[in-house]
Amino acid sequence: YVKQQGGDDICWYNAAIEEATAGSLQLEAELREATTAGQFIPYYQPKFDLTTGHITGFEALVRWQHPTRGLLKPAHFINAILTHKLSFELFSQMAKKIAAQLAIWQQQGFYQHICINADAAEFSHPDFFEMVSSLLVEYGISAHQLHIEVTESSLIQRHDNVKKQLALLKDLGICIALDDFGTGYASLSYLQEYPFDFIKVDKSFISNIESDRTQYAIVKAILDLAAALDMQVVAEGIETEAQRDRLLAMGCQYGQGYWFGKPVPAEVATDMLIKQSTTK
Ligand code: C2E
Ligand code: MG
Ligand code: MG
Ligand code: MG
Repeated sequence: YVKQQGGDDICWYNAAIEEATAGSLQLEAELREATTAGQFIPYYQPKFDLTTGHITGFEALVRWQHPTRGLLKPAHFINAILTHKLSFELFSQMAKKIAAQLAIWQQQGFYQHICINADAAEFSHPDFFEMVSSLLVEYGISAHQLHIEVTESSLIQRHDNVKKQLALLKDLGICIALDDFGTGYASLSYLQEYPFDFIKVDKSFISNIESDRTQYAIVKAILDLAAALDMQVVAEGIETEAQRDRLLAMGCQYGQGYWFGKPVPAEVATDMLIKQSTTK
């Protein structure tokens, strides 16, 4: 197998082989089964306010509870989801579980938000907006508890509907984040085309932020740009205290990464919230 950039995502290589061979048909059947049987589950990675050290929200990251192969990360199946046009089904299942979790936390007195990852293909689905807005009503949660993250690379395809859908979501009060900023194409033009609330700086710009002058300069420029555009910045992939310290000193307000916490199941995320509320 090939280990990806020092992270814990392994098996890209296996997944690629699987998709390229006869395994593809079986994979498609399994994915369809997964969408109907509810095998996609959200793991939650905390997002921190670097200035206060408090959890302000969580990012939901899909895991596939596969009946025989165990818990699978998106690298194993997210491309196949796109190929087989199952994005909307995945999104619906995740959104429903996330809305239910938000309702539970709200009952426990926790009002942190959850960010859901979405591919631009999902926005072009005719039922997208209706589905999201009716979930809010059904679960009694307010729009600002839900954030949506889109990647630059998914915006490239420029589905006609994307801009309209994002505007509708914003009108509803949902925050929109641009994910993996700096790794796609024509990044800057997206900033003037879409109404983002947050810019998430990709972890490839954070990995050596404490010592690398180029990374420092890039992140500094992004922070200045975001401030001028009234957008908030979230640094992704913070793995060390030194990185956290540097980002904090640079004026970056929000951060995520293994140093703060890996993606965890809902119960563990709840424990983090309880612990935070009792030690505050
Ligand atoms: P992303 O949205 O940029 O999420 C961040 C990824 O980096 C996650 O990988 C997370 O576990 C990992 N990560 C977080 N902190 C660190 C760190 O400190 N160091 C390192 N090395 N990695 C860190 P994951 O969970 O494997 O997700 C990969 C990608 O799959 C996500 O990237 C996102 O683009 C996509 N994805 C995840 N869930 C969904 C979903 O429900 N729908 C869609 N459409 N895409 C999803
Ligand atoms: Mg994301
Ligand atoms: Mg990202
Ligand atoms: Mg990513």
